[in-house]
Amino acid sequence: LGYALLHPLAVVVYGRTVSDDLEIERLRDAFELRHARMAAYFAFIGLVFGFVHGLDRHRTNILYHRVRELSVTDSLTGLHNRRFFMESLRREHARASRYGNDLSVIMIDIDHFKKFNDSHGHPAGDTLLRHFADRLRQSARRTDIVARYGGEEFMILMPDTQLEMAAHLAERLRKDIESFPFENRGTQPTGTITVSIGCAQFDQKADADVEHLLRVVDDCLYRAKNGGRNQIWYQPPHGCLSNLREMVEKDDLRSDNEN
Ligand code: GH3
Ligand code: MG
Ligand code: MG
Repeated sequence: LGYALLHPLAVVVYGRTVSDDLEIERLRDAFELRHARMAAYFAFIGLVFGFVHGLDRHRTNILYHRVRELSVTDSLTGLHNRRFFMESLRREHARASRYGNDLSVIMIDIDHFKKFNDSHGHPAGDTLLRHFADRLRQSARRTDIVARYGGEEFMILMPDTQLEMAAHLAERLRKDIESFPFENRGTQPTGTITVSIGCAQFDQKADADVEHLLRVVDDCLYRAKNGGRNQIWYQPPHGCLSNLREMVEKDDLRSDNEN
């Protein structure tokens, strides 16, 4: 294309700036139309190939993002899946270790979910999981990462969040689930759907690894179950395990409404 366009242009420019007619004549003779045609032809082929290649890249890009999205999404609830949660946890843990940021994790397990399945069937259990996931999505903040960790277990990863704030969210969530009119909730042992929650903050000083943080939050959840369900247990970075209800009763922790 350079040959086909620039050569004639050069003749015009040269013609205006140089007065040597012979030189201009020579330059004009040097231009061959068939060469110009050939050049334009190759340029056209190049453009077509470039365009097709660009389209293909674009299509591959869209497909890549779609596959990536599917691979990190839980198909039943539309929340992030365990793989995405673990990736995010490792990333945020590295960030927290390096820059000293806060990082909290909440683990939520639906109480007596097997009983719900047994009473109403698996499809009704699936519907409950979907509606439950919607409640979690609505309760969490935009910066939190909400994921389905396993069957009826969910995780919320809260970057830049101290335990106190995470505990507030957990308590709000617990109350919300307890009072939300989920279909068929009346047949559950407590007459409603409830959750047990474990809550922990990354321990900067101990420089604990991701697995340790998961063990701590899992242990808190275990204690919440053993403590009678429908409650939150938490572990502050250097503290011992505590029951959130006791903490609220002692007025160590004020609820959002009181702030
Ligand atoms: P707990 O209060 O101790 O947590 O009791 P639970 O019954 O909730 O816990 P358990 O671990 O005994 O049972 C979990 C049940 O969750 C058993 C399993 O069939 C059900 N479950 C797991 N994944 C799914 C799912 O995708 N859909 C449905 N409908 N049920 C599921
Ligand atoms: Mg359960
Ligand atoms: Mg469970």
